[in-house]
Amino acid sequence: MPVLRSTFIALSRNRPLRHFCENSSVGVRLSSRFVAGMNLDDALHVAEAVNQQGMAVTLDSLGESITSEPEAHRAADIYHQLLDLVAARKLNANISVKLTQMGLELSTALAESIAGSLTQHAHATGSFVRIDMEDSKLTQVTLDIVRRLHAQPESRGAIGVVIQAYLYRSQADIEQLIADGIRVRLCKGAYKEPAEVAFPHKSDVDANFIRLTSMLLDSPIYHAVATHDEAMIAAVKDYARNNAIEPGHFEFQMLYGIKRDLQRKLVQEGYNVRVYVPFGSDWYPYFMRRLAERPANVIFLARNFFRS
Ligand SMILES: Cc1cc2nc3c(=O)[nH]c(=O)nc-3n(C[C@H](O)[C@H](O)[C@H](O)COP(=O)(O)OP(=O)(O)OC[C@H]3O[C@@H](n4cnc5c(N)ncnc54)[C@H](O)[C@@H]3O)c2cc1C
Repeated sequence: MPVLRSTFIALSRNRPLRHFCENSSVGVRLSSRFVAGMNLDDALHVAEAVNQQGMAVTLDSLGESITSEPEAHRAADIYHQLLDLVAARKLNANISVKLTQMGLELSTALAESIAGSLTQHAHATGSFVRIDMEDSKLTQVTLDIVRRLHAQPESRGAIGVVIQAYLYRSQADIEQLIADGIRVRLCKGAYKEPAEVAFPHKSDVDANFIRLTSMLLDSPIYHAVATHDEAMIAAVKDYARNNAIEPGHFEFQMLYGIKRDLQRKLVQEGYNVRVYVPFGSDWYPYFMRRLAERPANVIFLARNFFRS
């Protein structure tokens, strides 16, 4: 793993730095490049604007690795409010949820029960819950929870999960998820993983990404391909074209603030695009992972900061 990438990922777990940044006005200003705002209203405004550009949204109320049960319930309350507001305003938006924000590191049962009530709520309002994937220690428990919730009639179809192409296990996981009829978002993976569990080289991750995408596109289920990598996007389009797969059979997903021109271009070409819109005051780990993906972002942010 390149040194800068692992440095930013290590910094994303630094609590004192996190506290300092999240409470400084400079930090909040910098975060606005990748974060839609500090509160629910900011997020809904952005969702509306993104919808007006012909793209769907998934909303992420930022936060992860909470340390108490009341915190987990408070985090879930925000998502419940979101589901009601999205329905009331008729937005084309669903939600993305991290199980560590729902208390997974405190208790599996707690996270499962909170995720279950969110999924039932989403089912009732015609929405959908995407469970984000976190580091590889949590892959199995995350998949187990998603599978159990998906099996409940009052949640069925309203929950999906994320698979990371950098993990060796992902092909087997995708085979199982397709067999279970569970919707997948495929991404490359954003955490620092050892070579025992993940491909260390980008070329292998990319090759696996293309292999896994073809499995998803061949299945009868509506899946999502999440990447800003133009080579991956071109490979997905080629595969779909060569195999008579309709553009409406899947969606591309990208992060808020990244490759906006490409997002619009895909819409013009007739593809479904969903933008991942994060918001909230707990933005620091998310922001640092975005710097890890592209350390040149630091220069870009600094230049814009001093210009404004
Ligand atoms: C919608 C969505 C949801 C995601 N959910 C998860 C999840 O649940 N779990 C998880 O582990 N990861 C998640 N990720 C992150 C993902 O794993 C990658 O870390 C991230 O998408 C970067 O990989 P890439 O596919 O864009 O390709 P890369 O090879 O990393 O990048 C390709 C090109 O895209 C551009 N680019 C990529 N990242 C950035 C950036 N931060 N800033 C500016 N330009 C950039 C650059 O031009 C770069 O050259 C998600 C990503 C997306 C788009």
